[in-house]
Amino acid sequence: MGTAFGGFPVLNYHKINNGSEVDFLTVNTTELRRHFSYLNNKGYTTVFISDVLAHIEQKKPLPAKPVMITLDDGYRDNYTALYPVLKEYNIKANIFLVGGFIQSPDKKHLDPNPMGEFMQAQEAVEMSKDLVEFGLHTFSHQSYSKLSLPEIEADLKKTKARLQELGIPLQPCHAYTFGAYNQKDGNKRQAMFELLQQNDIRLAFRVSNWVDKLPLQNKYFISRIHVNGLFPLWKFKVALWGFIKIFNRIESLLK
Ligand SMILES: [Zn+2]
Repeated sequence: MGTAFGGFPVLNYHKINNGSEVDFLTVNTTELRRHFSYLNNKGYTTVFISDVLAHIEQKKPLPAKPVMITLDDGYRDNYTALYPVLKEYNIKANIFLVGGFIQSPDKKHLDPNPMGEFMQAQEAVEMSKDLVEFGLHTFSHQSYSKLSLPEIEADLKKTKARLQELGIPLQPCHAYTFGAYNQKDGNKRQAMFELLQQNDIRLAFRVSNWVDKLPLQNKYFISRIHVNGLFPLWKFKVALWGFIKIFNRIESLLK
């Protein structure tokens, strides 16, 4: 476990709302502006997946206070609500897409989708031109913990092929759905890392609410912090610094 002090905080958002609505998975743009102002004012520099890869593979240094903004699933509000705020604050973000959910003129996407409204392929392409990079987040949001290795491999190939078909530029990077990996079986987990490597996935992210220290110990097991839409700003800071897990534990002991 590490902290933002000398570590590499990776924040994990989902839905971004233009109004006042917030919940566990939804941060509104008023709060988001507070997060981004805080990061800019405190001298953090946001990085892309490609920056992390260049750091790991070519030993290119990361900026002094690196922070990574990630969003999972690929909701349409990432285009309508998040993207304008990214431009306003010059913040880089990385979105992990569910291949079969991206809306496209060929109508091959899941519709209606009980998880919500997903971005259109051309919106992803537009965002990829400046402040957004994209990675994989499965084809239909299955949990890799429940799939066999051949099933995982087939899913990776299918997701990549679909996003390529839609013309969305992809980074060789995966985010586990539900933050999940094989928690109990170390051998299975190792086999999954090897499978990712064989399929040219060169980074993978989980959700652990920790902050990894630099240099990163395992590029297939990078910690992320879930940003809860219900967090006040002070709790966002606690999370960013890598203390939210300890804080929650203490809080539950005091109840
Ligand atoms: Zn997800």
